Amino acid sequence: MNKDRRYWKNKRIKALQMLGMQCVHCGITDHRVLQIDHIKPLLRKQSGKNYKDTAQQVLQSAARCQDIDEIYQLLCANCHQIKTYHDNKEHLQSIESIENKEETLPLWQKVLPA
Ligand SMILES: [Zn+2]
Repeated sequence: MNKDRRYWKNKRIKALQMLGMQCVHCGITDHRVLQIDHIKPLLRKQSGKNYKDTAQQVLQSAARCQDIDEIYQLLCANCHQIKTYHDNKEHLQSIESIENKEETLPLWQKVLPA
């Protein structure tokens, strides 16, 4: 690992530790899958596009004595993906139609694994 990558990895780990090092949704604690999520999507737009910037922001917010738990949360890659999916209102309609379809499935199709 080169110097730059190690530098950012340390920043990221520090930011993850400050936020509890755990996915708020499913509780997984493996730092390799944990991602920093902005609780308010509006703020996400103002932030940088990659994880380096987000970790940096967490550290800066903490240095400014802001309540970082109010701004950021940790999600694992899976839960983050699901949240992003649900955040997108265009998808809500299709999710509803899938859920409705599931209701009409015969019992044996619900019980058997896909
Ligand atoms: Zn999770």
